[in-house]
Amino acid sequence: MNIEVIGSGSAFSLARNTSSIRVESQRGEQWLIDCGPTIPRALWRRGLGINELDVIYFTHIHPDHCAGLPALLNQWHSFGRDKPLTIVCQSAQRPLLNSLVALACWPDERCCFDIQWLDTQDHFIWRHWQVSTAPTIHAMPNRAIRIELDGQRLFYSGDGRPTPASEALMPGVDHAFLECAMLTPSESHGDLEQSLALAERLSLPRLWLYHCFDEHIPMIIERIQAYPNVALSEDGLYLN
Ligand SMILES: [Zn+2]
Repeated sequence: MNIEVIGSGSAFSLARNTSSIRVESQRGEQWLIDCGPTIPRALWRRGLGINELDVIYFTHIHPDHCAGLPALLNQWHSFGRDKPLTIVCQSAQRPLLNSLVALACWPDERCCFDIQWLDTQDHFIWRHWQVSTAPTIHAMPNRAIRIELDGQRLFYSGDGRPTPASEALMPGVDHAFLECAMLTPSESHGDLEQSLALAERLSLPRLWLYHCFDEHIPMIIERIQAYPNVALSEDGLYLN
């Protein structure tokens, strides 16, 4: 499993792309998790081909996680993608994403490639990818995701405060990406002390904090220096 951080920033970050990662299997299958407004250009800069991504998974549909979809699909539509795309999302969030797909291809009635929609489930298998999802506490329903693939395990929280169900996806993962927007607790975002406690309690080998507010990042960097298994995720980080 290869993991590339396309974006690690919060919704309105001036320094980082909106949060998103790309996951690739040894067979070359590729998933994108979330697609905020700055993600298409970040992918194009990497030279991503129009037929490379197989699946886009949406943790939830706040704009910083989905507003890049029309631009990305519009590029594929404009340059003649011919590979089907699978979009995995919560069933209640599909209509809005479907309107973004329509925008991507408008005024054509449909995109030039097939789109298969899958509803997010607690557990499902896509090819040899074993996927589990669970809710976090966020301003809208958000589903954290765990992917087990090629003998490695990944956790990505999307947005929101951890729940017992989302925490249950974290033990045993090689890399855990946890939304940690700020230093102090809030109603619908992760915070630093809770994240550090989680890393200790679950003995996580590697916890990557992301989606931090720009103004909190210097303090977060300073505080995590005492935790060798905790690091700040960065745009362009590549793990294999
Ligand atoms: Zn967000």
